[in-house]
Amino acid sequence: MPKFENATLVERIDLTADLAVFRIAPQTKLDFIPGQFATLALEQSGRLVQRPYSIVSAPHEPLLEFFIELVPFGLLTPLLWELKPGDTLMVRDQAAGTFWLDTRSGLARHMMLATVTGVAPFVSMLRAHAFMLTSDLGADLRFLLLHAASHSHEFGFYRDELAELGQQGWLTYVDTVSRPSDNPDWEGEVGRVEDLIRKYADGSGYDNTNSVAYSCGHPVMVENTRAIMGRARFTKRQIHTEKYFTIKVPNPR
Ligand SMILES: Cc1cc2nc3c(=O)[nH]c(=O)nc-3n(C[C@H](O)[C@H](O)[C@H](O)COP(=O)(O)OP(=O)(O)OC[C@H]3O[C@@H](n4cnc5c(N)ncnc54)[C@H](O)[C@@H]3O)c2cc1C
Repeated sequence: MPKFENATLVERIDLTADLAVFRIAPQTKLDFIPGQFATLALEQSGRLVQRPYSIVSAPHEPLLEFFIELVPFGLLTPLLWELKPGDTLMVRDQAAGTFWLDTRSGLARHMMLATVTGVAPFVSMLRAHAFMLTSDLGADLRFLLLHAASHSHEFGFYRDELAELGQQGWLTYVDTVSRPSDNPDWEGEVGRVEDLIRKYADGSGYDNTNSVAYSCGHPVMVENTRAIMGRARFTKRQIHTEKYFTIKVPNPR
């Protein structure tokens, strides 16, 4: 039975007022596959408030890293925002989820689609891949990552990290902002993931004969991209999705 253990918040990097990177040291090392999530928890009024968070770090890294958005009226994130380095939180002693690199398909191309913090599992997969490449494992794999945000500062330092990995030739990293009028200095791509998938998939040779698609983050983007990839003849088994939350539709009565 999974249980919770204490962990220490070692480092917290605030990228914006409502986006932060948390690096934590659990009491016992957490085993996980890149792409899986950990469950973080804090106690409030004698109750444990727990939520899943994709792990950003790769298994070879010493600390567990998370990229988290503050949901102002949420139950857990406002409590996380009160934490400072040295404070204690809890982490479930087992990682979970099946959103990992699909190597069983035998397909060599992996197309990753993310909104803001939805990049987390992909960073883990790509850091792990870069680490493996030092021993030549997986040298035939290719990755395309489309990362969307409203504003350029929401990419944080992941933008530079991923662009640097892109220099190695096995990753095409495209970051795009959906509100160009708020980003006057932005010279990169403009639009949502949905607007750009076909341009980059077709342009870089990612199709249903050679690729797996993954989509993570905002539920609307996940559903839209699932439909777009379906129309591009990707089968259900070639599309992997992770929705971070659901949008509640108000009851009409
Ligand atoms: C597998 C998985 C992995 C996840 N990984 C991450 C991650 O890496 N980083 C991360 O920031 N979140 C991630 N989430 C979302 C996270 O688990 C929480 O739902 C989120 O942090 C809000 O928690 P809360 O308790 O503060 O708000 P809640 O009390 O759970 O939510 C309050 C309301 O806000 C809505 N809501 C929740 N999240 C958002 C959001 N981002 N934007 C708008 N509305 C929202 C909920 O639907 C709910 O109606 C993940 C979710 C899943 C299922």
